[in-house]
Amino acid sequence: MKTIRKGDKGDEVKQLQEYLKQLICIDGNFDDATHNTVIQFQTKMDLVADGIVGTKTWNALEKEVAKLKQPKSEIQYDAGLEGKDLLSKELLDLFGHAGHESKNPTIYVTSMWRSPAKQASVMYDNIVQGAVISYAEPGRIVTQLIQAEIKKKTPKAQVVQLAEAKIIELAQQNKLVSKHCITEAQYQKMNVIDISKTRTPNPRDLAKALLKETKVSRIITPFGELSTYGNDKRVLIDANEPAIHIEYTV
Ligand SMILES: [Zn+2]
Repeated sequence: MKTIRKGDKGDEVKQLQEYLKQLICIDGNFDDATHNTVIQFQTKMDLVADGIVGTKTWNALEKEVAKLKQPKSEIQYDAGLEGKDLLSKELLDLFGHAGHESKNPTIYVTSMWRSPAKQASVMYDNIVQGAVISYAEPGRIVTQLIQAEIKKKTPKAQVVQLAEAKIIELAQQNKLVSKHCITEAQYQKMNVIDISKTRTPNPRDLAKALLKETKVSRIITPFGELSTYGNDKRVLIDANEPAIHIEYTV
């Protein structure tokens, strides 16, 4: 068997979990394995990690197991999206639960992580197709670069390469062309994700349900009329936003 560690995915991890599950046998003995698992659970839930199961731990266990039994929303992704493996499991769980709570059998994701290469290529295509997108300064710089190269009849592959290099250069100065276009390492600390406001059945209530989670650090939403949003500093209302934009601190 190959060596695996935290963050790994795949069949070996499944095998490991299968073995671990069997290490705790339900025999009525509070043994080391049970004790260690209790400590792990308490740590995860921010409880006093003493291995003693009192009222707080019992309550937390019941809540967590009830959560596991609840049906979860299905998450669907727009074709060709990059970065699925950069999303944290916690965020996916949150979507599953918040989605169910807000009566959304499906949550439709339109945007996740975007590599600089992909960002460059999308911007090139938009310009060629005449789609006008209003960008902040870094985006305008890249747009001008692409337009100038197109005028010079530079081949697409080369223009995209130049644009990609410019996007990376700007990002190093903290000038982001898109909130979704950050390094993989940054994205793993901050998941940035867009949810379709038309293909997700009940997007307003989903946004409200997500706000119950403190790790949701920002939501940009086109739905301004909801009074619930009024006092929450994490919410930015933008009627032109085509999706619900969510930033989640992992
Ligand atoms: Zn977004």
